[in-house]
Parts: sequence; structure tokens; C-alpha cells
Amino acid sequence: MPDVAPKREIKQTDPKPSLPPGMVLGPDGKPCKICTAFRSWKPTAQNDNAQADKSSGKKNTAAMMAAFASGKGFASTPDPDVRPEHCPPDVEQLGRATWTFLHTTAAYYPEKPTPNQRANMLTLLRSLPVLYPCSHCASHLDSNIRDHPPNVSGRVALSRWLCERHNDVNERLGKPKFDCSIEKTDERWKDGPSDGSCD
Ligand SMILES: Cc1cc2nc3c(=O)[nH]c(=O)nc-3n(C[C@H](O)[C@H](O)[C@H](O)COP(=O)(O)OP(=O)(O)OC[C@H]3O[C@@H](n4cnc5c(N)ncnc54)[C@H](O)[C@@H]3O)c2cc1C
Repeated sequence: MPDVAPKREIKQTDPKPSLPPGMVLGPDGKPCKICTAFRSWKPTAQNDNAQADKSSGKKNTAAMMAAFASGKGFASTPDPDVRPEHCPPDVEQLGRATWTFLHTTAAYYPEKPTPNQRANMLTLLRSLPVLYPCSHCASHLDSNIRDHPPNVSGRVALSRWLCERHNDVNERLGKPKFDCSIEKTDERWKDGPSDGSCD
């Protein structure tokens, strides 16, 4: 498990305000943005909002009524959990982008790769634990790859191996496991569903 900032309330008199709950610390002991979900970056956004809601309930109700009256509804209210487009990635966006790249690359990997293709795939996979910017993700991946060496013998074996590594992360994060049959990984990462909705 990553080092996570202890849950401690920020008091105005506190000379060293605590870190937001959920903010992960990097190997240097400092807050690590790329190891943390965006919703945990901001110290007390939700608490502040809740507090503001309590103290200015009437004002907020009036603002909401005005927004609906003008036809805007809630559309202009930014969601504090959603990372604005111009911001650097958080651990989740980086993870989704990396999985997309890896699963797609596996789906299009040759059935019978040349020795050179195998060697390059091995280099790519073995470089991840060294270079992946989320340090605790990288260290979990490192031990996982040691326990389960990559199978780069062909696209079916590689797709399954990668799916199982992703499932190991899913399990650790309490997310559902994915069916690692080639039919399901191809459907998700290569062909799309048979109903044609992605054609
Ligand atoms: C190597 C690596 C290690 C990571 N380690 C951590 C960590 O330690 N802590 C942390 O908080 N986050 C970690 N992440 C990020 C995490 O895995 C997710 O990417 C992130 O939480 C966003 O999750 P998501 O629910 O949007 O979907 P993702 O898990 O990003 O999945 C994207 C899509 O892939 C498909 N999918 C899901 N599972 C599988 C599978 N097994 N095989 C094929 N396709 C699948 C689904 O359609 C899903 O929508 C890691 C990411 C990577 C690449």
C-alpha cells in the first residue's frame, strides 16, 4: 500500500497544515501528485464546499433558482472531482492512458513475432517498473512482473498476460476482474462488440 497522508483536520491555528486525506507521499516523503487521484489533491475542496453550503444556504438556493431560471441549470458548476483538461494527469488518467496503450499494442502484436519484435516487447514491459512515474504503482508492478514474467510468444499469450497483470491491479484497488479470454480482450481493444456499436 502507498504511504498516504494521515487524516488530520486542518485548523486555522495549525502552523503546519496537514495534507489532504488520500494524498499519496512519494519516495522523497513529499506529496506525489502523479501517485494520487485528482479528487485528493485539493485539501478541503469538498469540506469547504460543505461548510460554505451550510453558512450560505440561502444564497446558494437563490443562485440555483437563478441558474434554472436562466436555463443553465447546473451545467456551469465545475465538478471538484473532475480534472480540468489543461491540468497534468493524475494517477487514474495516467493509468487509463497506459492500459489503453499496452492492451492495444498487445492486441495488434503479431501472432508469430520475430525475435526482434519479442526482444523489443520485453524491453518495453521491463522498462515500465523503472520509468513509470507513479512510484508505488511502479514498485507493485516490479514485484508482479518478477512473479509473472512476460509472455511475449504471440498476441494471444501477451494479451492474456497483460490482462492478468491489469486484473492484479484491479484486485488490489477493489475493482472487478476482467474476463481475460482472447474473445473479450479483442472485443475491448481491437474489434469492438458484435452489436456494431463501435463500427
Ligand atoms: C502498471 C500500472 C499500475 C498501476 N498501479 C496503480 C496503483 O498501485 N494504485 C492506483 O491507484 N492506481 C494504479 N494504476 C491505475 C489504475 O490501474 C487505473 O488505471 C485507474 O484507477 C483508472 O481506473 P479505471 O477504473 O478508469 O479503469 P482502468 O483500470 O484504467 O481500465 C481501463 C479500461 O480497461 C478495461 N479493463 C479493465 N480491466 C482490464 C483487464 N484486466 N484487461 C483488459 N482490459 C481491462 C476496462 O474496459 C476499463 O474501462 C496503475 C496503472 C498501471 C498502468
